[in-house]
Amino acid sequence: MIRSQNLNNAFFSSANDGSLEEVLETIGFQNQVATMDQTHSSEIAFADSNISYKCDGIYTNKTKLPLVVKTADCVPLLMESSKGVSATHAGWRGLEKSIFEKSLDIHEISSLKISIGPHARKCCYEVGVEFLKTFNNSVNKVNDKYYLDLTKNIKQFAFENNINLEDTNVCTICNKEYFSYRKNKTIERQFSFIWI
Ligand SMILES: [Zn+2]
Repeated sequence: MIRSQNLNNAFFSSANDGSLEEVLETIGFQNQVATMDQTHSSEIAFADSNISYKCDGIYTNKTKLPLVVKTADCVPLLMESSKGVSATHAGWRGLEKSIFEKSLDIHEISSLKISIGPHARKCCYEVGVEFLKTFNNSVNKVNDKYYLDLTKNIKQFAFENNINLEDTNVCTICNKEYFSYRKNKTIERQFSFIWI
């Protein structure tokens, strides 16, 4: 488990940390968690109880209600500001539909802090040439292959707006301790948590 150094209460699990229930218990919660039925949309919902919301981003200002995002290769994006905390499922489909920008809308930028969890990185995340159309500045060409850097625009935004951003720097594809759908079509997921 990786504990965020940037956010007050935030953790990223690995493949070694067990089920959602086990990971919750490790961080001091039992059954209290707001989850999402993630569909690679750009829907954002306010969470105020321990149920599953139909969206790909949740936020709350309620204390002691952990939000969880489940990922294998997509980006788990955790954020906190004076307005509350949020957990976002940001894969290429969600990013294309502006889920990052929508997640910003519920925060207060001058107090915003961001933490980027384990995901498929540009070292391994090969994509087709068609990605140049929508992600042109985030695609690297190496030996006639194209690799997507999912968080390039997020980091650029943070840099330009003086936002405190932390990156775990873990690639789910080349790090054996992490689940990756790309690697072996696993149905297992990592869990990333944030709460107030
Ligand atoms: Zn890698």
